[in-house]
Amino acid sequence: MNSKSNIGLIGLAVMGENLALNMERNGWQVSVWNRTTEVVDNFINGRAKGKNIVGCESLEDFTTTLETPRIVMMMVRAGNAVDEVIEKIVPYLSEGDILIDGGNSYFKDTERRVKDMYASGFYFVGAGVSGGEEGALNGPSIMPGGAAEAWPRIKPILQSIAAKANGTPCCEWVGPGGSGHFVKMIHNGIEYGDMQLISEAYFLLKHLQGMGNAEMGDIFARWNEGKLKSYLIEITGHILLHKDVTGAYLLDRILDVAGQKGTGKWSVINALELSIPLELIATAVFERYLSSEKLLRMIAAKTYPRKKPEVVSNKEELIEEIHQTLYAAKLVSYAQGFGVLKKASETYDWKLNLATIARLWRAGCIIRSTFLDDIAYAFEQDSNLENLLLASHFSKEIQEALPYWKKLVATAAHEEISSPAFSSALNYFYSLTTDRLPANLIQAQRDYFGAHTFERVDEEPGKFFHENWTGHG
Ligand code: NAP
Repeated sequence: MNSKSNIGLIGLAVMGENLALNMERNGWQVSVWNRTTEVVDNFINGRAKGKNIVGCESLEDFTTTLETPRIVMMMVRAGNAVDEVIEKIVPYLSEGDILIDGGNSYFKDTERRVKDMYASGFYFVGAGVSGGEEGALNGPSIMPGGAAEAWPRIKPILQSIAAKANGTPCCEWVGPGGSGHFVKMIHNGIEYGDMQLISEAYFLLKHLQGMGNAEMGDIFARWNEGKLKSYLIEITGHILLHKDVTGAYLLDRILDVAGQKGTGKWSVINALELSIPLELIATAVFERYLSSEKLLRMIAAKTYPRKKPEVVSNKEELIEEIHQTLYAAKLVSYAQGFGVLKKASETYDWKLNLATIARLWRAGCIIRSTFLDDIAYAFEQDSNLENLLLASHFSKEIQEALPYWKKLVATAAHEEISSPAFSSALNYFYSLTTDRLPANLIQAQRDYFGAHTFERVDEEPGKFFHENWTGHG
């Protein structure tokens, strides 16, 4: 054991424990501290036994075991806990020390902390970490942002523990302020969208074909070999085939009420604040809320009973329709998510590199997929790309998917099967590709009742008019 540790880690719950082990495995000596000290003892005498990990009873001891300038990473519950830990540790820090918050903190909190810590002589980094328990141990995707002065020092450690995609670490500097946590928030929002889309694909396979879990499991495994190849498609295949101890498919016994921790909601709130459409993720978040209204849904289902959907006769064709729709709708979701990142970057002057961000998500994180290579390529070709759907590769993919996509959404509507994200994506695509929307009528109504004025197509842009609609004075 060296005399001093390279990094200190605070918070030994699921993520902290596994990150500490990951760091140690990669050659770094790690000091650890947890508010409840029993947790430290259990870790040191359990999973960390015989490893280059130093357990500390107090924050003061913890800081003395670290080489200076210190690097401290917090993996504690997001919110007040982060401020509490900062307040407790600051008296033991010295100028130039680095504090990394690896939790799912709200980016505006991170903005504030970066600023406050600068004022006190410390460098604060808000690093989104994705990949759950497994990723934390074997290589997560890491999205660090904040005080750029910290990056050269933390880079070797964070890049060594990060997942690698074709040998490149899924950890790169994102930008200033709260940008790292903002990017992680949108990552999570996209995750909500992907999960909703996959659940709609499952629902349509089940109800338009009456397909069983084993067959659906095989379909997802097949899709995971093509352009939908991703972690979430892969685990969906496993989930479908999984049986509980009684030999029954576990999925069929899981209550249809989806939980959430808030990052999807934050993504939507921020899209609203930035005035950028994020309908697919919003739909995913609202569908989780609606799923929670189980009792109401049961009453409504009795009020509006449905006939069983007609089984679609051509099975292979239906599977292809769902496959193509899943891909196209996923593309819309990413186009919207990256649209929010682009606008945030301009609004907050973060200078985000969207190609780099796509590459950060290629391995280690929950939304990892081969499709992110194509997204990175699209932004590399044109860093000012207004919308992913305008990239030539994706426009070809959309043209190919469109006949299947509109047919499937129509069939689902006709057979009264809920598929809100598939149809939301299609309507976004139709609105995006309509050069003259009915917004002229909205402007006329606004002017009629509220004198809000309107622009005219036959006049210069920026000139506003008001009409006396009723002829009254
Ligand atoms: P968690 O359940 O979110 O938090 C538990 C940890 O926070 C414990 O170490 C706890 O210490 C500590 N803590 C809570 N309040 C504290 C306070 N006031 N002062 C000091 N410590 C406090 O743990 P987690 O699931 O490992 O997640 C850690 C962070 O990573 C969170 O921000 C989470 O959102 C984020 N994250 C989690 C995952 C995941 O899959 N779990 C994935 C990505 C990111 P005690 O033992 O003393 O209670």
